[in-house]
Amino acid sequence: MGFSRNVLLWASENSWMRAHVPNLKFVKTAIKKFMPGETVEDALKAAAAFKEFSIPTTFTRLGENIQNLSEGLEVRNHYIDLIDKIAERKLDVEISVKLTQLGFDSSFEETLERFKSIALRAKEKLGNIVWIDMEGSGYTERSLFFYKKIREQFDNAGLCVQAYLYRTEKDLDDLLNINANIRLVKGAYKEPADIAFSSKKDVDSNYLHLSKILLKRRSEKEFRIAFATHDENLCSQIINEAKHYSISKDRFEFQMLYGIKPVYQKHLANHNFKVRVLISYGSFWYPWYMRRLAERPANIWFVLKNIFG
Ligand SMILES: Cc1cc2nc3c(=O)[nH]c(=O)nc-3n(C[C@H](O)[C@H](O)[C@H](O)COP(=O)(O)OP(=O)(O)OC[C@H]3O[C@@H](n4cnc5c(N)ncnc54)[C@H](O)[C@@H]3O)c2cc1C
Repeated sequence: MGFSRNVLLWASENSWMRAHVPNLKFVKTAIKKFMPGETVEDALKAAAAFKEFSIPTTFTRLGENIQNLSEGLEVRNHYIDLIDKIAERKLDVEISVKLTQLGFDSSFEETLERFKSIALRAKEKLGNIVWIDMEGSGYTERSLFFYKKIREQFDNAGLCVQAYLYRTEKDLDDLLNINANIRLVKGAYKEPADIAFSSKKDVDSNYLHLSKILLKRRSEKEFRIAFATHDENLCSQIINEAKHYSISKDRFEFQMLYGIKPVYQKHLANHNFKVRVLISYGSFWYPWYMRRLAERPANIWFVLKNIFG
């Protein structure tokens, strides 16, 4: 893992920086590259613009590791209200939540109830699925258990899994046995070398390996697979592998983040591939933004340009 990635991931967890950096004007300007704005209305407008290009979206309200359980209730109410707004506007928008935003650090049971009410509303009003983000490795085991609990009652839930973790191949094996809906990512957190691949080459190669497992299973069964990556080389290899299994373009999808590779997003959509763009909004963007910078330290030049330009 590169030095600058390590420093940025350290900064994402530093509480002093969390409290002070978001107030800096140049940072507020730079963040616009990755999010259309802080409000729900900003996100809805962006989703309507993507609709013009036949690109559906996913919404996530930024926030993680809430301090007390009642904040999680506010987040649940926010998402329920959001689902109603999405339904009113007839947009194809799915929700993606972080479990620690709903109270996972304090209560598994409360988080379960909150997630269930969001999933139920999404099923009734939108007929779509709710995604669960995967957070740092301290949450992996519990998130998998949580997802299995949800699947006992709801089929409209999906889980993110991270290719940088050694354990993911085995986890996928379990998840595919229950026809889980899977979003495969490389992984965005700082993880130790005894549990995660540390070189980009190894992470990329495991991503491809896991993609092949998912596609082979997709040729036999019904479940959602979302390849959430901006890596064009990987996307091409995934497309070839899907052809190999005669999996049509509508049976797998790519997911990308707002502001990253927008031209490629449209290119895929123009060639009838399914692409969904994740739009983040909300005021608690600091740790999330630092993880985006860490993914591509060259982004720091963009921040510097905002200071000096
Ligand atoms: C829809 C979606 C949901 C996600 N959910 C989670 C989650 O729940 N848990 C989790 O750990 N991670 C999540 N991630 C983040 C993911 O783990 C990676 O950190 C991120 O996607 C970057 O990896 P990559 O696959 O694009 O490959 P990379 O090899 O990092 O990037 C490939 C190319 O894409 C471009 N690129 C990638 N990132 C950036 C950036 N920040 N700025 C500018 N250009 C960039 C660059 O051109 C780069 O060369 C999610 C990502 C997406 C797209």
